[in-house]
Amino acid sequence: MRPLTRDEVRGCIVNLYPTTAKVRLPAWFDDTRWDRIDYLAWRDTRAQQRAYLVADVDGEAQGVLLRQNPNQAALASRAVMCDLCRFTRRFNEVSLFTAPRASTDKRRRLSAVGLLLCTDLDCVRNVHRTPTTGPHDPPAEQVIEARRSGLRARTADFLRSVPDATVARRPGR
Ligand SMILES: [Zn+2]
Repeated sequence: MRPLTRDEVRGCIVNLYPTTAKVRLPAWFDDTRWDRIDYLAWRDTRAQQRAYLVADVDGEAQGVLLRQNPNQAALASRAVMCDLCRFTRRFNEVSLFTAPRASTDKRRRLSAVGLLLCTDLDCVRNVHRTPTTGPHDPPAEQVIEARRSGLRARTADFLRSVPDATVARRPGR
């Protein structure tokens, strides 16, 4: 993805509340390998259940604050698919995160958009994993590029859905 500046990342979280809340960037921000990642995600060091997800959406940095929900005991021993990288992993390797909906309307702020996401925010490792390809399969680099473009598209869709959820859910759209 396009390298983002600290100010871009700090200023792009659409669902901060209060909106003046400070976004703490990860300690490794300056070492980010932008060419390798399709989204930037990190945990809040002072509140481990809080995470940030940021990507370049239509040329603009856009991000959300996520809250990790406790893992459901009902899912134990089941495999779960991450909504962003679409890899199926063990139940504890994928978690439900929710993004409180961005709204100036107090009542609407109580609602949230959910996402099943790799618990360690490490979709990047999955999409770069060398695929086992047969003689009739596309070359590995092509498979990886297809995974990455899917990951980028789904991340952008999710990020767009947080501030515009009421619009996106209107029937017929
Ligand atoms: Zn994933």
